[in-house]
This record gives sequence, C-alpha cells and structure tokens, in this order.
Amino acid sequence: MILPVSKCLHIRKNCDIWGMTIRKILFIIVLLAGCLPLSGQEFTSASAVRPASYAGNQPRFHALLYYSDQVEEAHREFSHQAIDFFKKLTVGDGFVLDVETRLPEDLSVYDVIIMPDVAPGDPAERVRFQQYMENGGGWVGFHAAGYNDLSTGWTWFRDFLGGMRFLCNTWPPQPGLMDVESRTHPVTKNLPEHFVAPSSEFYQWTPDPRSNPSVEVLVSLAPENFPMGLKDVVFGGDFPIVWTNRAYRMIYLNMGHGDECFSDATQNLLFVNALRWVVSQKKEGDPFER
Ligand code: ZN
Repeated sequence: MILPVSKCLHIRKNCDIWGMTIRKILFIIVLLAGCLPLSGQEFTSASAVRPASYAGNQPRFHALLYYSDQVEEAHREFSHQAIDFFKKLTVGDGFVLDVETRLPEDLSVYDVIIMPDVAPGDPAERVRFQQYMENGGGWVGFHAAGYNDLSTGWTWFRDFLGGMRFLCNTWPPQPGLMDVESRTHPVTKNLPEHFVAPSSEFYQWTPDPRSNPSVEVLVSLAPENFPMGLKDVVFGGDFPIVWTNRAYRMIYLNMGHGDECFSDATQNLLFVNALRWVVSQKKEGDPFER
C-alpha cells in the first residue's frame, strides 16, 4: 500500500521521536550507573583501607636530639636546621622531642636518639650510649655523627656503624646524584630510583660497608657523579650514603654538611622515613600501630 506522503512523514516523525527518547534513556542509564555506589571488587578494595589512627593527646614516642655547638660551622648549621626540622614534625604533639648537648643519665625513656653532627666523646656518655643501643635503643645518625678514624678510639662505635671508618671525602660540598637501591625497604619504597641530594660533603668508607653482611645499603652515590670534586677529587668506588646495620635498631645518613640539606622534598621525605622506620622497629611494638 502506498501511503500518502503526509502519513509517511508522520510515521518517520514518530520513529525519530522514539529513537531520540531511547537514546536519552540509554544516556541517563549510563549516567546513573556512574553515580551508583562502588560494587563488587571495587567496593571490597575501598573498604579494605584502614581508617586513620589519631594519636589524640597521647604522644606516640619520645625522641632525643643530641648535638654539639663545638663543631665546625657547616656541621653546626646542619644541626640547627635539623632541630627546626624535627621540631616541626612534632606539631600537634605526635611525639616529644628533647634537645640536649649532653646525654641524659636515663636514656631508657627515649625511643630514638637523633645525632645530627656528633657522637659522644665523653667516656661516660659513650658507655651510656652503648648500653642504650644494646638494650634495643634507636638511632638516627647523620654525617659527622658517624665519622670515625684511627684516632677516635671507640671500637664499639665502629662496629655499631658496621665496622667501617672514614676513608676520604668529596670537596667542596656540592649536590650529588643518588641511587636509591631498595624499592621495598620502608625507608626508600616511596622515593624515586634516583634523586639529586642537595649540597653536602660525602664520605667514603673503609672497609666497604657492604662487606658486612649485617649492613643493608639503601642509598649510594651514583657512579655518574665521578670524577667528583673541585678541590678534593674522588674518582670512583663504592660510596654508600644511607645504610642500616641490622644488628641494631639504627640508620646512618651521610648527608649533613652545610645549610642546604633540608632544601629538597625528596631528601626531606627520606629523613622522615628514616625516623619513622627506626621508631617503628621498637621491640615493644610499633607505636604507629596503636
Ligand atoms: Zn662535613
């Protein structure tokens, strides 16, 4: 049957209207699907995230920063910036930070001791520190706090570090490309594979810290830096910069010379990670888990 032209136009118009309506309905369904709550696997993974744990008014740990003003100026600069840096991290009273130039008699109250520029030289303080560490104490040491040579006369401290003494250094202080060696350790897992550390003096050690099976090197000076130095030039070799001696609850970071060490977010993150990790390893339990 041949429909009149006007009837054909009418049917086509109805079809167009229905077509548009169906398209609109489909469009709305798609939109609504996007707004629905997470379901299935997505919902499971979202609900698996633990809620935040607020410390409230209860500090999670007690730290001591031990430093000296009787050191070279560049080390003093670093110490005073370190005091500011770690003080800022206590905001909201998440932890207590005491700052001292003498080691207190009772170190047992401290979960961690931060040493930005020097290790104890006084015989009584050395004994106190050794006893503290051997009883499960925590240590975050920077730069000159790990310095020891044949004249230091503290064998225990050398063994505590991993058995090495100072060999040589780069000079003048300058930035250095770092290789982050561990992608899984809590101190480095959120760092990039490489970063440029702000200007510092970097030490090389003998024997190589890596020769001690208890030592785990986390960051080292990248080979691409060599030859490095304008006055004292270092041509290569292994240059561990951050490591832990697993025989103790400790970490050593060789950064710490001058007033630029806290100017880089990546390195600052490394410092926070180091503090947090040492504290989290307490044998009485991880205070961030309560
Ligand atoms: Zn130095």
